[in-house]
Parts: sequence; structure tokens; C-alpha cells
Amino acid sequence: MNIPFSPPFIDQAVIDEVLHSLHTNWITSGPKVKALESEILELTGADAAICVNSWTSGAILTLKWYGVGEGDEVIVPAYSYCATALCVLHCGATPVMVDILDDFTIDPEMVKSKITSKTKAIIAVDIAGLPCLYNELMSIVNDTEYQSLFVPGSGRQALLGRILLIADAAHSIGSNFDQLPASRKSDVTIFSFHAVKNITTAEGGCICLNLPECFDNQEEYRFLKLFSMNGQNKDAFAKSTGANWRYDILFKGFKMNMPDICAAIGLAQVRKYKNTLLPLRKQVFMKYCAAFDAYDWFIKPVMEDEHRESSCHIFPLRVNDITEAQRDRVIDELVALGIIVNVHFMPMPMLTYFKSIGYEIEHYPNSYKQYSCEISLPIYPQLSETEIDYIISSVVSCVRLVKGIVLLNDINELVKISL
Ligand SMILES: *Cc1c(COP(=O)(O)O)cnc(C)c1O
Repeated sequence: MNIPFSPPFIDQAVIDEVLHSLHTNWITSGPKVKALESEILELTGADAAICVNSWTSGAILTLKWYGVGEGDEVIVPAYSYCATALCVLHCGATPVMVDILDDFTIDPEMVKSKITSKTKAIIAVDIAGLPCLYNELMSIVNDTEYQSLFVPGSGRQALLGRILLIADAAHSIGSNFDQLPASRKSDVTIFSFHAVKNITTAEGGCICLNLPECFDNQEEYRFLKLFSMNGQNKDAFAKSTGANWRYDILFKGFKMNMPDICAAIGLAQVRKYKNTLLPLRKQVFMKYCAAFDAYDWFIKPVMEDEHRESSCHIFPLRVNDITEAQRDRVIDELVALGIIVNVHFMPMPMLTYFKSIGYEIEHYPNSYKQYSCEISLPIYPQLSETEIDYIISSVVSCVRLVKGIVLLNDINELVKISL
């Protein structure tokens, strides 16, 4: 058997929507982007949604929008994809990394210990689709003691008067918090529509605004749309009638808009997301949990607790009492059986660039601990029962083998099935 890690969901509806974009001759930002933004508003309950060409672009745009720059600090977890910290560095600010809890989400106590008068934002990452502890994080940014530390460096910072809480929701579209879409729990939520994510536009992202009342979210929406398009007051679609050709550049914007041909893919997917694609992911998640429950050497990821409900983007399985090298060996054995797995994530302080600018993994012991025994299993709507069963029995056999509690017969059996 050959089981890819995370193939995109491309059915006839996706193909038809993309062809429609091609046939109408409108391939860059236009009606499909608008339609996708409306669908996202419906799904997330956000006040405004701005589609952009990646999560990374959306994060840079958001930080710049808030006036984050040289001399500022942004608190991020050490356990994330590099983009969570790179967006901060691209603004000239410093990512202040903190350790995580055992459920992979940012540790609110660690966040508190790192707040200074330079802190402008916190980027909390909903790893695997599980929302962070947003009630705790929101009380931290609203705490009068931390608010009195806050030194506004821009008009928007003065208006908010506190640290901005940003959700890195690259994994968590469709997740819930207290029965509501989790995106309602932070000031700004940014989704990724990269090819491996729950909803994809090949490359893409979306900024969802949920700013408090001192802001006019619609006005900020209009600003961010222009900000993502060179600060140009008319997009190509508005200019396309010809009579409307004259435009102006109002400020120094970026070029980060999403094209319609990409939006078309996500549009067809998002329509099926809540009722079909997301429940199918949850089913795979639950099957894995039920099967791995029988072994005390597995630590299963959290799907839900009293406040939170995951979007089941990743199934980060952990194996008790194995070293990083043993974990790597389990992965090699699984790949040999045709199952592509992954690790989410190598903590940023372990990556060459972050080491070169002074981050050290020794300061984030729980990030290292979780990473070293983690294996992300395939989880997506197209997985068949047979494939899920094969993955489960293969994982059990490979872990047994590496832990030295196996009968070689098991592996030989699986090799036979895989051929
Ligand atoms: C994928 C991912 C990103 C980056 O998304 P892009 O759309 O590729 O820029 C950021 N954060 C996390 C946690 C991710 O998994």
C-alpha cells in the first residue's frame, strides 16, 4: 500500500470551479475571492475576512498594520512552523520564544514571564487544530498590570491600548471554543490555505478580524484589502470596465492579494467543509484514538475538552519512553511499509537559522520532549477504512519493533500486505 501524508481534496466540484474561473477569463482577485471571503465569514463568525496569498503574508500584513517594527517584541511558541517567527523578523521586531504545554499549545504562564514594555503582540499557534487557551491569553492581555506596561508606538496601538492577541490558525479552521468558532477568541485570526491544510487554495491565507469595539472592523477590512494590493485604491476588477481606469496609490502597500483561480479551489472545498470534509477528518481521528487506546505506550492528542474542539488537522501521536533516534527509526520503518508520516514540528530553536541568531533548544525543554517522541499520521477525508486499519497495525508493529517487543512475523506480514 502507498499512503501519502496529506494530498489535497480535489473533486469534480473543485475542478469545475477552477474551470469556471478560466472560462470567465477572470483569474486574479475578483468575484471568487469575494465569494470565498463570504464563506469564511459564515464559517468563522468573524467580523471581516481578507484573503491573501499565504498565512505568512497575512501575518506580516497584520503586524505591519499594528505598527510592529524595530525594537518591538512579539511572543511566540518555540514549537511551530518557522513562519510564526519569520513574520516577526521580517517586520524588524524580535520573536520572544516560550515553551509549550503538554497539549502542544503555548503556555500562558510562560507568556506572562516574558512580557515587557516592548511586547506588542502574542502569536498563539493552534497546533494540530486544537485552539490555545484563549481565555487565559485574553485575560493576560487585558490585565491592567500588563496594560500599564504597554507603550503604544502607533495609532492603532494607542487605540487598542494593549498587546494584540493573534491566532496562528494555520491548522484550525473549523475548530471551536465554548461552542463558538475559535476564531472569535482572539483579536486577529490568520488561516493558511497552503496545499496541505484542511482547506486549500494551493497557496493562500486569510486574515479574520475580531477587533474590540474601539475599532471599525469594516474600515480595517477596507484598509487591509488596499494594504495587500500596493495601497492602490482600485483593484484590477474595479478598473476592468475601462471608464474606471484612473487610480491612485494611497500608501506604501504590499502585493499579497489572492488570485481568483486559487480562491476557486478553496471555494468549492469550503462549501463542503462543515458538513462533509471536517466530520470525515474527525472520524479518522476518533478511529486512531480508539485503536491506540489499547496500548499504554501511546499518548493520544486532544480532540476536545471542556472548552475546545479541534479541527483535526494533524494527528500528532506520541510514543512513551522513546528517544528521538528511536522515533526516527519508527518513521523509517513506516515509510518502508508505504506510509508517509511526518513530524510536527521540529522546534524552531533546532533549525540552523534560529540557532545562528541565538535561540537554544535547551531553553524549551518541553518543546524538545514533545517533538522527540512525536509522529504525525496521515489524516484526511479521502482515507479509506482499509488504509486506516493498515496504518494502525503498521504503527503498532513498528513501535513494537523499535521498542524491542516484537515478533518479526508481524512486520513480514505487513510487508506482504504492502506489496
Ligand atoms: C503552514 C503553516 C504556516 C504557514 O502557512 P503559509 O500559508 O505556508 O504561509 C504558519 N504556521 C503554521 C503553524 C503552519 O503550519
